[in-house]
Amino acid sequence: MAIATVNPATGAVERSFDAHTPGQVEEKIAAAYTRWRSYRTSTFAQRSAWMVAAAELLESEADTVAAVMTTEMGKTLASARAEALKCASAMRFYADRAEGLLRDEPADPSTVGAVRAYAAYQPLGVVLAVMPWNFPLWQVVRFAAPALMAGNVGLLKHASNVPQTALYLEDLYRRAGFPDGCFQTLLISSSDVERVLRDDRVAAATLTGSEPAGRSVAAIAGDEVKHTVLELGGSDPFVVMPSADLARAVEVAVTARVQNNGQSCIAAKRFIVHADVYDEFAQRFVEAMSALTVGDPMDADTQVGPLATEQGRKDVEDLVADAVAEGARVLCGGSRIDGAGWFYPPTVIADISAHMEMYTAEVFGPVASLFRVADIDEAIEVANATSFGLGSNAWTADPGEQARFVADLEAGAVFVNGMTTSHPELPFGGIKRSGYGRELSAHGIREFCNIKTVWVG
Ligand code: NDP
Repeated sequence: MAIATVNPATGAVERSFDAHTPGQVEEKIAAAYTRWRSYRTSTFAQRSAWMVAAAELLESEADTVAAVMTTEMGKTLASARAEALKCASAMRFYADRAEGLLRDEPADPSTVGAVRAYAAYQPLGVVLAVMPWNFPLWQVVRFAAPALMAGNVGLLKHASNVPQTALYLEDLYRRAGFPDGCFQTLLISSSDVERVLRDDRVAAATLTGSEPAGRSVAAIAGDEVKHTVLELGGSDPFVVMPSADLARAVEVAVTARVQNNGQSCIAAKRFIVHADVYDEFAQRFVEAMSALTVGDPMDADTQVGPLATEQGRKDVEDLVADAVAEGARVLCGGSRIDGAGWFYPPTVIADISAHMEMYTAEVFGPVASLFRVADIDEAIEVANATSFGLGSNAWTADPGEQARFVADLEAGAVFVNGMTTSHPELPFGGIKRSGYGRELSAHGIREFCNIKTVWVG
């Protein structure tokens, strides 16, 4: 895949970049490793000052970087701006909290025959981040903010279609004052990742993206016995029970499905509705999905922009075509919007069955599948009938049902009467084929730490 900005709203190639040569990549790895050996001894106060400076810069440049993101991957300008500001707040969170989150954890010395014993959190070193285009700032920052605050340094291999955002991030951290080598962007193809990952100076890796990409990186890292965090796809269930506030559930269902033009790992993708409220939910949901404004993502009135890539739209079209050929019913949308750019309308599909590809695949576009279920047992069974396990949503006012969903939904997160979102304060990650490890919160900053046992006699 060429490293280039291709505007998804027009299909026009706006800028192309040469990949870094092997020599340039070597220089960057060497710079990262050399820098880490001094950076690891910097104080939390120093790192914190740099991180706050990065947050301030990002806040002041939110409009500019938002326009770059929208041009590169098609999200609406308003959502791109919100993403930039969310990144700044995560930077501030870790700037404030890192020291406390990584404080030594004392053990009772008498029980281990020591004078002093504790666990210390120490940085691992150079961490390679392989990141996707869908939240081109946020996916990176939620790795980089905690990793840099913990004393690691980062090498970013960003998706090939967001090179300007990738270069902006390197520049941002440098201008904020982080010493050279702390955070660098590698303009390389996915086939060059292996060489970087196998380099002895690279200690660990994190990847957000598709299952095949995750499997490949994890296999290489496993071969090298290097720690990885994987945040892969999701096919989140959104369960609606009869006691739910239906108006609110419909409103959130629409946002949960079409956020980021339908291209979010934690977007609700499968809407599993109790038979008692199915017809009403379906009617209101289809109405609301059909009423969305699709168009130029730079336009303030646009609610759904284009899909990020031509291939991404084709993948969505193929899944819909397969489902329709096998007997599914399209309640709204269902075919591409003609003209320039890779637009696909908000779509709702009913009568999905287990033999259709859509039943198990991650649909990375604004396409919702609707399922009618008889009771909570069937709702949970359908919700869990996926190899993914990232987020999940359950809508019910019944405390017993809420407890049941919390206990039985197979996912890294369950949001009851609300939409799955990421917050710096809460851990983020999945189970099953959605990956392993956690980002954000205390768990995220400790992922790339050596939890060193210290025993002093
Ligand atoms: P990919 O997983 O292919 O891309 C994500 C990142 O991984 C990019 O930086 C990519 O680089 C890199 N990459 C891809 N393959 C490898 C590999 N074998 N070894 C090392 N790095 C690799 O996502 P796509 O953009 O192709 O999207 C395909 C599907 O993945 C989507 O339809 C969706 O289902 C899922 N996805 C999920 C995301 C999530 O947030 N969980 C985000 C993006 C996609 P390059 O761009 O150079 O190929």
